[in-house]
Amino acid sequence: MQLGCGVTSDPTPAEQTGAMTAEAVPVGTEGFFGPLGDEESEGFWEGTAVGELRLQVCGACGRLRFPPRAMCPHCHSTERQWRAASGKGTIWSFVVAHPPLLPAYAPFAPYPVIVVTLDEGPALRMVGNLVTQPEDAINAVDPATIVIGEPVKVVFCRRARPDGSSFHLPAWVRTDPQTAAK
Ligand SMILES: [Zn+2]
Repeated sequence: MQLGCGVTSDPTPAEQTGAMTAEAVPVGTEGFFGPLGDEESEGFWEGTAVGELRLQVCGACGRLRFPPRAMCPHCHSTERQWRAASGKGTIWSFVVAHPPLLPAYAPFAPYPVIVVTLDEGPALRMVGNLVTQPEDAINAVDPATIVIGEPVKVVFCRRARPDGSSFHLPAWVRTDPQTAAK
């Protein structure tokens, strides 16, 4: 079953840029997990809000890292900045979610969850949903069509919180025309 991801009555104007869609608040996703906004990941979520997929870069050795953390795992420096990644990667692995699931997610099952290796490095991986556009439901892509290694790029899905605020969650779309149509 694919649930609709229609537009809510949120009147927020189109303040976003790039691939984001101002009206992209899928109906019924208010119970989805959202970022807690801790100090270390704050820059990441500020990035998604402006259409950037940001990685931490070590101020001492220059290596990139994800997820965000205070100390470089390579040289132990705590000097760090944010750098926008290309937003491109390949599917490294995936699972298909089935019940039992949290109530907000259960109506969408079964749906795929993919692990993407970023083009910036084989150790940089992110977990997310595979969609065909930011407004999609998380079950928009048939998991049977997913191929390990196929190229993807990031998009940013605007998600609502129960309190009416919102955030932008990275998700992934296919870039190979052969698979993008599936
Ligand atoms: Zn370092």
